[in-house]
Amino acid sequence: TQRFVTPLAEVSNIVDQYENAKASSARVFGLMDIPAEVADADDATELTGVEGRVEYDDVTFGYDDEDTVLDGVSFDADPGDTVALVGPTGAGKSTLCKLLLRLYDVDDGAVRVDGHDVRSVTLDSLREHVGYVSQDTYLFDGTIAENVAYGEFDADREAIVAAATAADAHEFIRDLPDGYDTEVGERGVKLSGGQRQRVAIARAILADPEIMVFDEATSDVDTETERRIQASLDDLAADRTAVVIAHRLSTVRDADQILVVEDGDVTERGTHDDLLAREGRYADLWHVQTTTLDG
Ligand code: ADP
Repeated sequence: TQRFVTPLAEVSNIVDQYENAKASSARVFGLMDIPAEVADADDATELTGVEGRVEYDDVTFGYDDEDTVLDGVSFDADPGDTVALVGPTGAGKSTLCKLLLRLYDVDDGAVRVDGHDVRSVTLDSLREHVGYVSQDTYLFDGTIAENVAYGEFDADREAIVAAATAADAHEFIRDLPDGYDTEVGERGVKLSGGQRQRVAIARAILADPEIMVFDEATSDVDTETERRIQASLDDLAADRTAVVIAHRLSTVRDADQILVVEDGDVTERGTHDDLLAREGRYADLWHVQTTTLDG
């Protein structure tokens, strides 16, 4: 997730991007790096009545012409499924997720939601139905309540508090100087990584999208906070489609489908048991991780 860490010199640029994004897309889930190259097609339709089927069909993508980052990736997720992406840093997991949010357009192939190519629907409606939570969530200048309600302009205080409670954020918010009306962001109270993440989760709970993309934290929060954050995330993933960049053993073990991503390609796929039995790359990763935890 290093690519989200941005030098201070670029902050004003991000704020500009953010302002543009806010104007063009009502519900961008805290996405910091919003490239400008994607736009609604002239005949774009509204994505509505989403069930949550996700389909990657022979997806090829590179950030520039020289390097192919994803090379013909295909997979499907049924509504409600959890797909865990595992594999080494730089393999292309985040890139796969960004294509589902349509932060970039594929070079070849297609990403579809309920059979609709993401390029054929409006960005607003796509991002209304596809949520995003990462450890690098961006909080804008405004109150905590506004940050939780981001995009849900008509959300009332009761709904905001309920979402924050479900995200295990209510207690720390209540203890801030002005509670839900405390100013955060550049000019406000600094929140810790774990607190920001819980605001992001509350935002996602309130928005209630049918599809969630998670970049699981490998973060610096204490074990108890981590456990509680993960419990909220598990709840959030339970009754919707989830594509998760998975670092946690329990996420991986319980996923409906695990994709091992290496060098822009899916090299193994299956359930935890399938892949352990295969004794390949996944089995190696699993043994390394479980050994590390034990020792
Ligand atoms: P992972 O999530 O598996 O760590 P990424 O999808 O972040 O992998 O990265 C895949 C490749 O794409 C890496 O080589 C990375 O350096 C490159 N990459 C990621 N983001 C960008 C970007 N915004 N511009 C150019 N290259 C990028």
